[in-house]
Amino acid sequence: MSLEKNADGGAARPVPARVEDVRRGNLVRVLAAIAQARTDPQRHPTRADVASLTGLTKASVSSLVAELADSGLVMESGATRDGERGRPGVGLKLSTNRGVVGMEINVDYISAGLLDLGGTLRADKTLECGNRGRSPESVMALLAGLVSEVASDAAAAGIEILGGGLAVPGLVETASGTVSSAPNLQWHNVALGLGGLLPDAPLGTALYNEANCAALAELWYGHGLDFRDYLFVSGEVGVGGGLVIGSRLFAGPHGQAGEVGHVVVDPSGPDCSCGGRGCLETFAGQEAIFAEAGIPAGTASARLEQLEERLGAGNTAATSAVARAGRYLGIAAASTARLMDLSAVVLGGHFTRMGPWIAPAVVRGLAEYAPGLVSPGRVAVSELGQSAALLGAAGSALRSVLAAPYSLAPAG
Ligand SMILES: [Zn+2]
Repeated sequence: MSLEKNADGGAARPVPARVEDVRRGNLVRVLAAIAQARTDPQRHPTRADVASLTGLTKASVSSLVAELADSGLVMESGATRDGERGRPGVGLKLSTNRGVVGMEINVDYISAGLLDLGGTLRADKTLECGNRGRSPESVMALLAGLVSEVASDAAAAGIEILGGGLAVPGLVETASGTVSSAPNLQWHNVALGLGGLLPDAPLGTALYNEANCAALAELWYGHGLDFRDYLFVSGEVGVGGGLVIGSRLFAGPHGQAGEVGHVVVDPSGPDCSCGGRGCLETFAGQEAIFAEAGIPAGTASARLEQLEERLGAGNTAATSAVARAGRYLGIAAASTARLMDLSAVVLGGHFTRMGPWIAPAVVRGLAEYAPGLVSPGRVAVSELGQSAALLGAAGSALRSVLAAPYSLAPAG
């Protein structure tokens, strides 16, 4: 048994520690109340609103708000109506002078964007580059360059960066900043030097799985407002996925749940990058669709544009390649929905570019293999596009700020 000790090894002092815990908990509650209310920009909550939302006294709220304002997290939004009495009060909102950086490394591009605490994407930069087989050090150097451009934009706009999140298409250990396995990048057990990305940000940079980030972005900024339980499937070079259950991402005990791209849809199908065979990715990943549609070699974005053109023109090879991918997506979604008791499917990543052609095929696949489980109106196409993973990584960083406001020193 160990007694709680001070950092200097002195005797335990439980009472002050509890007072400090209560204060920290109250800071988080006040910040959460202000953050939740941001969905109604017409009426930012007053201190009195926050008091009634949290059950704290107005005096406590005023003192806690002052502390959050000192840390630069909360700002006044000007006069607002105060409840039904019509008396004007001063509204509160999350500071637009503080922000987080979302970053993504994918197989054929890297990107970085600035999200202010109010949830607005203020800058967004993408660099197309072939990262497959490239050394992690050189990709991280490219990314650091892109991040420093975003940081310059932030400084010019008077926004202080508090932290960041990096999304990578593979299995990651968030705590150690290690990519355990990213088959499409050919990276295995790579410790990324995350500290070099945002050296001045107090909360540093955290590492996340790309598909989980995209699923979270969908939850916070997209179809998560319509569905509580769904499978999110993200098409990139690989096919990623995320399970949202009860409006929460279910990442599994090792953060690896929802990897629908490696669900087997044809036991005698082609070999897969994961070492298995006949996975969904071998039919619905970019390479598989481009090859089946007869799209010539080139950059991924050029090939995707060509595919879109051919789909629009009714080219048979293109429409049948996409319909085939959709059918296998439907098969994988049917099994997943059965297993996890899900009632909706959201298509993201490159599938959004093929929406009108792929979604009907997914609906047919679901109807054939799991009749009655997911109704056609509950197969949706994401509207977030390629920035979803970046937005989810930034949103995750934003939430870590909201979860620990006390870890930020008062602004100078
Ligand atoms: Zn696989």
